[in-house]
Amino acid sequence: MSDLFIAGTWRDASDGASREIRCPADGALVRTVPEATAADAVDAVRAARDAFDNGPWPRTPSPERAALLHRLADRLTAEREDVARLEALDTGKRMVEARIDMDDIIGVFRHFASLAQADAGRVVDPGVPGVASRVVHEPVGVCSLITPWNFPFLQTSWKVAPALAAGCTFVLKPSELTPSTAVWLVRTLAEEGLPDGVANLVLGAGDRVGPTLTEAPEVDLVSFTGGLVTGRRIMASAAPTVKKIALELGGKNPNIVFADADREAALDNALTAAFLDSGQVCSAGTRLIIEDSIHEEFVDELVERAGRIRLGGPDDPDAQTGPLISAAHREKVEAYVAAGVAEGAVLRVGGQRPSGPGLEDGFYYPPTILDGCSADMSCVQDESFGPVLTVERFTGEDPEALEEAAVSIANDTIYGLAGAVWTRDGGRAERVAARLRHGTIWINDYHPYVPQAEWGGFKQSGIGRELGLAGLEEYREAKHIWHNTRPAPSGWWDDTDRSSQ
Ligand code: NAD
Repeated sequence: MSDLFIAGTWRDASDGASREIRCPADGALVRTVPEATAADAVDAVRAARDAFDNGPWPRTPSPERAALLHRLADRLTAEREDVARLEALDTGKRMVEARIDMDDIIGVFRHFASLAQADAGRVVDPGVPGVASRVVHEPVGVCSLITPWNFPFLQTSWKVAPALAAGCTFVLKPSELTPSTAVWLVRTLAEEGLPDGVANLVLGAGDRVGPTLTEAPEVDLVSFTGGLVTGRRIMASAAPTVKKIALELGGKNPNIVFADADREAALDNALTAAFLDSGQVCSAGTRLIIEDSIHEEFVDELVERAGRIRLGGPDDPDAQTGPLISAAHREKVEAYVAAGVAEGAVLRVGGQRPSGPGLEDGFYYPPTILDGCSADMSCVQDESFGPVLTVERFTGEDPEALEEAAVSIANDTIYGLAGAVWTRDGGRAERVAARLRHGTIWINDYHPYVPQAEWGGFKQSGIGRELGLAGLEEYREAKHIWHNTRPAPSGWWDDTDRSSQ
């Protein structure tokens, strides 16, 4: 139960409060964890500050930091099944998906281990004789790392791995709904020799511990993944102390299908894009934008297939997707669908809580398709973060007008996280991809990502990038060092006239 980790010590909440974590698939108790107080968060921030200012980690040679990340990846490889189960029970997701998450996370730690040593800075030619000039990278300092519940460990790894690679110290606050893999991570880092105070863990609700983590003057960087409303709040609370911020927020991601697309691949991937993990994916392709001439036939087939998607819990071998995270979240998705129907969308499939053996006690909601949508509807503009696909159509009198119509619908959103275009015309694919204002574009595919490539949002989908090279830069400061090897008076201060008077 003592699952808060502060300055190298496991402890309970200072007021003794706790929270039950229950599996969203069946309501079974998973574990009881401490619910940290603001005072606990203050302690954690101070511990991270002390470890940064006075501890060895920021000055540990990069090969040693990289070695620790590799050891963490080795431990996760060895304990993959157990950690996947922790994740599956907290989130309700299928074990098969949780195992894939573990493989991705191992790749993320290895990616940042390889980058930790890769860039020792650069020499600059100042054009001044006798001067050596160089730019070096230093850790940004103390980081508050705040993560969501949909891919708890994966989202955490995108922050913890580069923070450690750069030499930072941190306070990690996972979603209050899904803390188990964060506890495993911090425990394993400590067992692998990470010095006390480098990794601190506070568990609890955002409004209870969040403000301390985003306001404290001791914090240098806040890296947050979560919803837009919380992101705005965090940005405001970090402003008075001008902290660096990195925000990975929501998406309302277009999936554009032209009539010349590979039909079977586009159909299959439209389902995956929208309904994988019950749509609780920030990059989910929740807006199908389809050429008018194939709309009817394509959507009919999509509706038929969506209606056959099987729901079930972590160990159901027949399940293709799992429950929503909570009762409150399911109500939010229901309200979103009701608003869409009230605005004139046509409910083609789903939209009713499912019944059936094994589904009674979970927060299940079926794949749902709303046809006849347009950009002025809330269901097209707002993120449901559930298994709901909206359908919009485009047409054009000539090829240029057709592409223009698709692009303008796809960009008509305050978000800009990800999107896809399906066509057999390579030139069209490139032209459309170039004009989409989203951080990741798939051509004839949906959802794959690799840790070597940057991830993040245009517009209100966020600030900054995770993964790739930029994902490490978030955790570093650049410092210019100018070394004059022939010190001499500058020549600016001249006393000649006065001394001669
Ligand atoms: P959320 O914003 O409700 O919570 C995210 C985290 O912020 C949680 O740990 C929460 O406790 C914490 N928090 C809440 N209020 C806070 C405050 N005032 N100060 C500090 N921390 C606070 O989001 P969620 O419901 O957990 O996650 C779903 C959202 O995350 C979706 O909008 C989704 O699109 C987004 N998301 C984005 C990405 C991405 O890569 N862009 C990835 C995953 C999820």
